[in-house]
Amino acid sequence: MPYITGERKQGLLLPSSIEDYINPSDPVRAYDAFVDQVDITELGIQTEPNRVGAPEFDPRAMLKLLVYGYSYGVRSSRKLERATHHNLSFIWLTGGLQPDHKTIARFRRDNQAALSNILKACAHVCLKLGLVEGNTLFVDGTKVHANASMKNTWTEKRCLESLKDIDSRIARILSECEQADASEQGNPSLVKMRECLGKQGKLKEKIQGVLKDLQAGQKNATNTTDPESVRLRSNGRLGVGYNCQSVVDDKHGLIVHSDVVQASCDSNQFSLQIEKAQQALGKPCATACADAGYASTEDLKKSLDEGMDVIVPSARQVKDPSSRVKKEHFAYDAKDDCYRCPQGHLLRYIGDHKQTKSRIYAVGDPEQCRQCPLFRRCTNSDQGRRVERLFLEDVRERIEQRYLQADAQAVYRRRKLRVEHPFGHLKQNLGIRSFLLRGLAGVKAEAALAATAFNLVRITTILGPEAFVQRLAA
Ligand code: SF4
Repeated sequence: MPYITGERKQGLLLPSSIEDYINPSDPVRAYDAFVDQVDITELGIQTEPNRVGAPEFDPRAMLKLLVYGYSYGVRSSRKLERATHHNLSFIWLTGGLQPDHKTIARFRRDNQAALSNILKACAHVCLKLGLVEGNTLFVDGTKVHANASMKNTWTEKRCLESLKDIDSRIARILSECEQADASEQGNPSLVKMRECLGKQGKLKEKIQGVLKDLQAGQKNATNTTDPESVRLRSNGRLGVGYNCQSVVDDKHGLIVHSDVVQASCDSNQFSLQIEKAQQALGKPCATACADAGYASTEDLKKSLDEGMDVIVPSARQVKDPSSRVKKEHFAYDAKDDCYRCPQGHLLRYIGDHKQTKSRIYAVGDPEQCRQCPLFRRCTNSDQGRRVERLFLEDVRERIEQRYLQADAQAVYRRRKLRVEHPFGHLKQNLGIRSFLLRGLAGVKAEAALAATAFNLVRITTILGPEAFVQRLAA
């Protein structure tokens, strides 16, 4: 016989209980032990063992199902339901419970706030087991698609154009009706035309409602499927989604805090996310590091003022070197409050720029620039070169100098390994590129579940499932 073949009718002596199917070193035991030691009422899950009426599924079993499912990229309620019927690990984890997809979806929807706290519980466990130190933290963000389509995103301009389009379509349908009436032909098509008119009318009403909301509110665009999502540019493409922030500990690259924000960029998120991570860990961190996307001097100053070692390059430090004459080629004279350009000409203070919170300096005679051999490389303006100096320029220079030091460079090199690993695992290995839930509360719950799932995968790799279970029980 050249092949080994299977035999479906072979009689088997299978173990008599589900417990015997799962090996003591199976990773599912780590998930089970983790959820068992979480205080679910502290998370915010309502438990009423003595309630009257039809019994519900054990909330702890439902939580285990979600955390384990997210760890293996099984997120949809239908796939989770199927797993409780076909997958031995899931069957063991839930003790044979088989909730249907509606029950699973309802549990996730009704406990969004509680699920957002699961990562905090995980961070505490990591701290207790010495897997997290909380001394050096890295912040990073990634854009995740919302469960909504870009075609349902409306701006004021698009609303006005669509309304104009609908009006012209209605006018065309009405004129076709008149023509049909006149010729007394095509009665069936009249019914169709009325239907078309009704559809156009409903669409017009919907767009008018959206336009009214846009004109009354602060937003310049809204999505009708997920109104809390925002327009984001990711990899050069415009889409609709959320900005996911995560704070990772240096020791083993475990996530200690995750958040979802409606900001289109990471600027101004640094101090906020580090503060929340410190609250989650219950201890202050010594060093915080992020990429140039977080380089908002005003925001970084908040962390500096708390005595933190802030390692964040400025945007100009990471830009590609080019032949252009940059601001750092100008020497600042603090005594006379002026700049001197590479050609030795003075740039004097001419006023403030309120939006960028900076002071502006300009050459006295623009002709000097127009005649300069560096003109075009330095400026294209016939008014001559201008230089902006932040009100907090000294703070920016301090942060820039810190970034250039050898020990800061070593921390910054680790940043990429630590903080980008979770995003890579979640997106590439588990395929979490878009959220399933809608609304900020829902996506925050999903982000916390995904981060907890990443941590548990990482812990089972670092310690091994058996050792993790033993240390939790100790
Ligand atoms: S272009 Fe103007 S500011 Fe720039 S180096 Fe020449 S003289 Fe100086």
